[in-house]
Amino acid sequence: MEYPFEKYRSTSRDKETFLKLLPNVSAALPEYFRALSVAHHSIEQKNMFNQPQGIHQSTGLTSSLNLLLVAMVNDRVISVNAELVKFIDALRILVLKWYSFGNDLKACVYFGYYYYTHKSASEHEVRQQLDAIRFLVDESSRVSQDPIILQLMKPPNSRRWFAAESHIGDKLYPLTVQAGDFARVDLPRPAYQVSFKASQMFDLRVPITLTDQELERPQISNGKAIVSCPACGQKCRIDVYKRMEIKCPTCQQVWTQST
Ligand SMILES: [Zn+2]
Repeated sequence: MEYPFEKYRSTSRDKETFLKLLPNVSAALPEYFRALSVAHHSIEQKNMFNQPQGIHQSTGLTSSLNLLLVAMVNDRVISVNAELVKFIDALRILVLKWYSFGNDLKACVYFGYYYYTHKSASEHEVRQQLDAIRFLVDESSRVSQDPIILQLMKPPNSRRWFAAESHIGDKLYPLTVQAGDFARVDLPRPAYQVSFKASQMFDLRVPITLTDQELERPQISNGKAIVSCPACGQKCRIDVYKRMEIKCPTCQQVWTQST
């Protein structure tokens, strides 16, 4: 079985830049990956009822997460006052990036299992750790505006998605999530929650949550649909096909959608 993000790789120049510009994060990630790997190993071990044995505190997952969160603020990847979802999204991007430099796949799989499928437990943990580090970091520290750091933290996904009959997809990147792997939730606000419950494929390129503003469900009638441009928001009336390549008449952005 191959995970959909398995071939995701960065260039060696990207890696050099990352190590140089994010020294604290680079120092914290190996230990976090080690702890994630151990956790992955411990869920692989099943008890006599074929249930996972559970994660032991001794794996160091909590302490390595704590150090990584401090490092993220110190390297100005994120501000300590950022929203919880932003922190978790930044973690996802950093873990995937670190993987793309040739690091352990199983660590990523466990990260996905914990953050997509066990969302409330993982959110609770990050929230607790954020409360714990608040006094250790500079609260006024701003997020870096260095374009190279912003480029390094750029996720391999957009925030412009569409809903089709049995899947959701990214309008600008070749990413798809099948029915059973996501669910509609109403709390704390209406959104689509990616869980990878059905496939267990934990594609770390996919955001964990997509809000209603980020995901469009086109109304289709008489073979026509109205869809909006992912770049400028222009509404376009189009003929509906299984797979469509659309060009915005206003800004010329091209994107793809399926039904
Ligand atoms: Zn446009």
